[in-house]
Amino acid sequence: MKRSLILFSKIFYKHDPPRGVYHPENSLRLDIALNAIKRENLYDRVEIVDTIDQRYYLYRDRVHEKHYVEYIKKLCIAKNEGFIDSDTYINQHSFDVATHALGCSVYAVELSLNIKEFLVFALVRPPGHHAGLNGKAMGASTQGFCIFNNVAAGALYALDKGLKPVTILDIDVHHGNGTQEIFWTNPDVIHIDIHEEGIYPGTGYIEDLGGGDAYGTKINIPLKPFSGDPEYIYVFEELVIPLLYVIKPRCVIVSAGFDTHEKEEISDMNVTSRFYKYLGSILRILSLRLGLGVVAVLEGGYSAGLDEGLPAFIKGFEEPDVDGVKLSTKPSKYVVDVVKKIHSLVKRLHYSI
Ligand SMILES: [Zn+2]
Repeated sequence: MKRSLILFSKIFYKHDPPRGVYHPENSLRLDIALNAIKRENLYDRVEIVDTIDQRYYLYRDRVHEKHYVEYIKKLCIAKNEGFIDSDTYINQHSFDVATHALGCSVYAVELSLNIKEFLVFALVRPPGHHAGLNGKAMGASTQGFCIFNNVAAGALYALDKGLKPVTILDIDVHHGNGTQEIFWTNPDVIHIDIHEEGIYPGTGYIEDLGGGDAYGTKINIPLKPFSGDPEYIYVFEELVIPLLYVIKPRCVIVSAGFDTHEKEEISDMNVTSRFYKYLGSILRILSLRLGLGVVAVLEGGYSAGLDEGLPAFIKGFEEPDVDGVKLSTKPSKYVVDVVKKIHSLVKRLHYSI
């Protein structure tokens, strides 16, 4: 029985780097992902979403400041192809493509409502988790390939439906600084973010726990370069899963970046498809126990992460096998200390795990 749906549109091919410029976040990423989905016999899960209800697009204007949305719109209408910062390009289609990516992410949340043990994967681009209220977030030097924040829009939609709290689980190798900025003072959005420390965007410290009433609802888990499956699985077993069962989210949205994969050049991590299969598996169990659907929205991943990690994640959800992917290898000592430190912090907050 099919347990997942993959939302996709050819519209996502239209956002591409200026002619002659190589950029890792290009439309060929879609081909890598789709070829892998076909190879793994998952293509019948794909649903083409070329047109959606206009009200899903309007979440763009709830997530971002008006002047930022207008700024991107004007550049695209003027066919102003080029870079808006040293990392992030736009072309004449980018405003519409980024808006469609955001709308599809909202639609994914809508589809996930009231169906437990089901994964809705939004295969969208450009990615979104670095896009903050006004573009660049939390002092970052660039927007890191992102235009509009897709998962933030999905989370707002879930809150509108009365689903509190929402959990955003960001497994992209980079910190989701845009998402953190947008929900910094929102106590209804629990943002759990596992990322490589010391790389772009340079944020996501353990001590950053949220502002005001939201203090304690942002959990940052920075991991050292070259962390692999033992470290990631340890973090989930000892921290993330227990946290999720205490939080009991009514909606789970995964910022699904696959750039943590060992063969991805953009990062230094040693994660393999084994971890992505594990992640899919534990989310299926969570989905069953909490009685909810799970949404995943594509963030990073530029080569092997999409080719191997993405299908492993979906297959893990469809055919969970937690014991089969667990390792006997012990995690590095540093990660045990990181988890211990975060435990001591969250114990003083709203949770007791
Ligand atoms: Zn990334």
